[in-house]
Amino acid sequence: MRIGFGYDIHRLVEGRPLILGGVDMGHKKGLLGHSDGDVLLHAIIDALLGGANLGDIGQLFPDTDPQYEGISSLELLKDVMGRISGLADIVNIDATIVCQKPRLAPRFDQMKHEVAAALGIPEDRISFKAKTNEGLGPEGAGDAISAYAVVLLDLPKAP
Ligand code: MG
Repeated sequence: MRIGFGYDIHRLVEGRPLILGGVDMGHKKGLLGHSDGDVLLHAIIDALLGGANLGDIGQLFPDTDPQYEGISSLELLKDVMGRISGLADIVNIDATIVCQKPRLAPRFDQMKHEVAAALGIPEDRISFKAKTNEGLGPEGAGDAISAYAVVLLDLPKAP
C-alpha cells in the first residue's frame, strides 16, 4: 500500500464558472486557472501521482501548453488514471475543500458520481468534506478556494 497527498489553491474571480469535482456549482464567481481551475480535482490528481511516484500535475500538464487551456479537469483526471491503472488500484480517496461560500455539501453526491465515473471506481471509495475557513485567510475572505486530498493505492506488483 502507498499513500499519496495533494494540495492546491486557486483564486476566486468574477466571470468564471465555479467547477468543483467536475460539477458547475452555479456560483457568481469561479476559479482562475489555465484549465477549468477545478482545485479539488487538481489536489486529487497530485495525490494519485504522488502515491504512484509519477511526478505532479504541473509536470504532466504544463500551464504553458495551449492544449490544456480551458480543459475540463475530469479529462486530466482520466489521463492520470490511465497512467496508474496498470500499476495500482485506488483503495480510497479522502478530500477536504476549504471554501467560505457557497455551501458544497448539497452537491457532494453529484461530485462523487463524476469523480467515480472518471476513475472507474465505486462512489463509496470517495469522501469529500467541506470546511469554511472561519473567515480567516484568502479562503475565508472569499478570494480563493483550496483543497487537500489523500489517496491510498494498492500496488500489488510494486518492487
Ligand atoms: Mg491547480
